[in-house]
Amino acid sequence: MTLTPLQELAKSLHDCQRCKLAKLGRSQVVFGVGNPHASIMFVGEAPGFNEDQKGEPFVGAAGKLLNDLLISAGLSRDQIYIANVIKCRPPNNRDPEQDEVETCKPFLLQQIQLIRPKLVCTLGNWATQTLLERKVGITKVKAQAFYMKDFVIFPLLHPAAALHQGNLLVTLKEDFKKLKEFLDRNTKPAETTSTSPTPAAPVLNIESPQPAQMDLFG
Ligand code: URA
Repeated sequence: MTLTPLQELAKSLHDCQRCKLAKLGRSQVVFGVGNPHASIMFVGEAPGFNEDQKGEPFVGAAGKLLNDLLISAGLSRDQIYIANVIKCRPPNNRDPEQDEVETCKPFLLQQIQLIRPKLVCTLGNWATQTLLERKVGITKVKAQAFYMKDFVIFPLLHPAAALHQGNLLVTLKEDFKKLKEFLDRNTKPAETTSTSPTPAAPVLNIESPQPAQMDLFG
């Protein structure tokens, strides 16, 4: 069976030994999951315990909250693609270290290049700073659209932050409302045909209101 380029990339990382996380207790590489043709991608920080066990991003408590938030924005997991900046679980869920981010970032960029989403929602500081390539706090930039050359970045608080600090849940829900408004403004109705009666994933048609800001791929 021939593999797609995205499947080839996943295969090439299956037993990745490029950074120290390979030897620090990870069970498996958590590459990413979802619709390989998604127009919307979500990017988190790194796998936690449950993700490391299952091999899929966002399957623990933060994942359950994310599922509810997605529904509130009119999205479902099978329409989107979800990945993390770091593909292996850091020991005791510690923060990723700089060398780990630098080693893994090219693979996130390759995933984005192959999936070609129109919108990338970054969850939390790590994903936001990694993709915006700016050391900026998530609370300053959240729930706004940043127009890059090939896609828009829409930063959001990390769902785990709202699980640890209950008062952030209201903000997170409001920010997903803003995401829905952004999607409603930029989505063409999905076409249904007699062969596929269920609507396809949203077709985003995002016009940049300003000159593109940055080109991640050089
Ligand atoms: N937190 C993340 O950033 N990613 C996951 O996959 C799970 C929790």
